[in-house]
Amino acid sequence: MYKIIDTHCHIDMEEFEQDRDEVIQRSKAGGVDAILVPAVEPEDFDKEFKLTQRYETVYQMVGIHPHEAKKATQDAFDRAIEYLNKKKCVGIGEIGLDYYYEHSPRDIQKEVFANFLDIATENGMPVSIHCREAERDLIDIIRSKKDLKGVIHCFSGNDELLKAGLDLGLYFGIGGILTFKKSTLKDVVKEIPLEFIVFETDAPYLAPVPKRGKRNEPLYIYFVIDKMAEITGKDAVEISDVAYHNASSVFSLGL
Ligand SMILES: [Zn+2]
Ligand SMILES: [Zn+2]
Repeated sequence: MYKIIDTHCHIDMEEFEQDRDEVIQRSKAGGVDAILVPAVEPEDFDKEFKLTQRYETVYQMVGIHPHEAKKATQDAFDRAIEYLNKKKCVGIGEIGLDYYYEHSPRDIQKEVFANFLDIATENGMPVSIHCREAERDLIDIIRSKKDLKGVIHCFSGNDELLKAGLDLGLYFGIGGILTFKKSTLKDVVKEIPLEFIVFETDAPYLAPVPKRGKRNEPLYIYFVIDKMAEITGKDAVEISDVAYHNASSVFSLGL
């Protein structure tokens, strides 16, 4: 059995409304000791807090997704900071830039992202960074911050982001994309030392092959670990152990 920490999972979303208990139970039985739930918008903070109280393995992060950056008010930042005192609030996320959809204007995305990075470093918290077709701006911003720690979530293989992330000592969140036929991540992932890899689902999205197109869930990280073993020639149990240790350490889970 693999030891798993799902470092980015939207288990709060409505896709899990009917069977959340079962999904979390079977993931726990299958070796998933922690599920980290990133916020998308400020209304999520309390919803996710309640899940952390209900389920032993659920932890939360507070942040605002770049899509929703336009909803970032001073009140939202203040509330996020308050949550950082809660025991099972383990990071700031998800935050970042998304120029693919551009649901919020780029300037606002950049400002909100930079603000949350400051909150993270001031409070010694790790971040879960989302980046889509915004590598250049995002790299400029993360390079300008000191003592940043955290994960580039849903890493898809961009070369410059790889270099910048490694430079800054960030971790790379690897998920279902690794198993996709056309993904170039297969080649790039070999360049990331195992010590900087963590696993994630981004569930309900991005289910790995052979579940592609279906709803994703934490247990499916098994398929990603198997793929990783196949690509790197390393032992799958060793991969799962090291990634588990990495995730526990960067988010200070004490596992
Ligand atoms: Zn994301
Ligand atoms: Zn996400």
